[in-house]
Amino acid sequence: MARVQIIAANWKMNKTIPEAVAFAREIVQGVDFTGVEVVLCPAFPALGPVAEAVSGSPVRVAAQDVFWEDQGAYTGEVSPVMLRDAGCRYVIIGHSERRQYFGETDETVNRKVKAVLRHGLIPIVCVGERLAEREAGETFAVVERQVTAAFAGVEEAVAAGTVIAYEPVWAIGTGKNAAPEDAQAVNRFIRELVGRLYSPATAAQIRIQYGGSVTPENAASLLGQPDIDGALVGGASLKVSLFAAIINAASKALL
Ligand code: PEP
Repeated sequence: MARVQIIAANWKMNKTIPEAVAFAREIVQGVDFTGVEVVLCPAFPALGPVAEAVSGSPVRVAAQDVFWEDQGAYTGEVSPVMLRDAGCRYVIIGHSERRQYFGETDETVNRKVKAVLRHGLIPIVCVGERLAEREAGETFAVVERQVTAAFAGVEEAVAAGTVIAYEPVWAIGTGKNAAPEDAQAVNRFIRELVGRLYSPATAAQIRIQYGGSVTPENAASLLGQPDIDGALVGGASLKVSLFAAIINAASKALL
């Protein structure tokens, strides 16, 4: 069965609640969702309002992070239970900005992945090499370490339904996207790795996005690659017209 492209808007620390809701309404009304799954990832305060705005539509909502405990004395943290309650379907885990600025490690990523799966949420697990690692020829080793650690102890039955986002760190927010064939090579490597960790059937089913300076101009060539099943979009997801154009490119990539 063909994998449905998943196009996610990672708004990071942008958009007030009214701005987020207005954007969500415009996407719901103005986009053709044929063959594409669209996910909006607002900051925590806007999760509930955006979930309400897209309710009854095919658009899904994701959080940008989570903590691994269900509840308790963890000031400032948000649990998977709370995210479900707010209407989330997905949770971004291990974004490079979390790894770089907030001490996220392969181990905390794994704890978070297992926690959200326990509560029926779907992780979007971010992996990707830094520039120095790429230049040292370590891309595949880094990605292998990150994916293997993220999925440690995750049952095959749930692994197949998860999403991995390959996001080379040097491509995030820099305007320098990976060449489509380079991104394809890494995504293919990740799929083969999932095949080794689980089975060929799970490898065939799991969706692997690309993220890093995706724009309406480069989306079609990236999304047209056989092992790229969607995009995690930062900067270009902040404007409805740009994000809608990327969604369109995803439906065309299916033709
Ligand atoms: C991201 O933050 O996940 C991202 C890919 O950002 P940008 O599209 O701006 O590179």
